[in-house]
Amino acid sequence: MAGKLELLLGPMRSNKTAELLRRAEMRRQYAKQYVMVLKPSDDTKGGPGMVESRNPNGHGKMHAYEFNSANPWEVLAVIAEKEQEIGKRVECIAIDEGQFVSDLFLFTKHLLDENHDVLVAGLDLDFRAMPFGEMLNLTWLVNAYGGSITECMAYCACGARALYSQRLIDGKPAPYDSPIKIPGDSYEPRCAEHFVLPGRPH
Ligand SMILES: [Zn+2]
Repeated sequence: MAGKLELLLGPMRSNKTAELLRRAEMRRQYAKQYVMVLKPSDDTKGGPGMVESRNPNGHGKMHAYEFNSANPWEVLAVIAEKEQEIGKRVECIAIDEGQFVSDLFLFTKHLLDENHDVLVAGLDLDFRAMPFGEMLNLTWLVNAYGGSITECMAYCACGARALYSQRLIDGKPAPYDSPIKIPGDSYEPRCAEHFVLPGRPH
């Protein structure tokens, strides 16, 4: 038997993380499942470890395992260890910020094949409005394994639905060719009319 995939997609500030944690908490409280929350990180020194991070959306503190975004496979040993410790299966794996995870498609497929239910939250598009990482590839897994796709809603300041994440550098729209990482950048959800991308080729 294989697990099912719940995919949570949307732009910045569409409450994806809050929805992921709400579903994780429901499973813990009512289905009595063991849910492991995973969070990719650029710098994990000495392998995956438990972190406590503040959820800005009001769920208080959440416990998550931080792992190297370049190598999700190192988490498999952590899951096996946890199953030994609790004497039962880890029924559900919840992955936040899925767009940053290398091998996300294969890793998620592996977890489903191992009969874990999987929840993945992440950005569907990057600041250039192009598919972000492997998030959109996961829709194939929902079709193949069952589960659901939730498009989390965000709204532009004009009130229209925001499909895009507007990147701002010093308060101005970031150009198409701006570096991936700049200190002091910020994002806001924007509709098609108000999304601005200076220098876009097409
Ligand atoms: Zn707008």
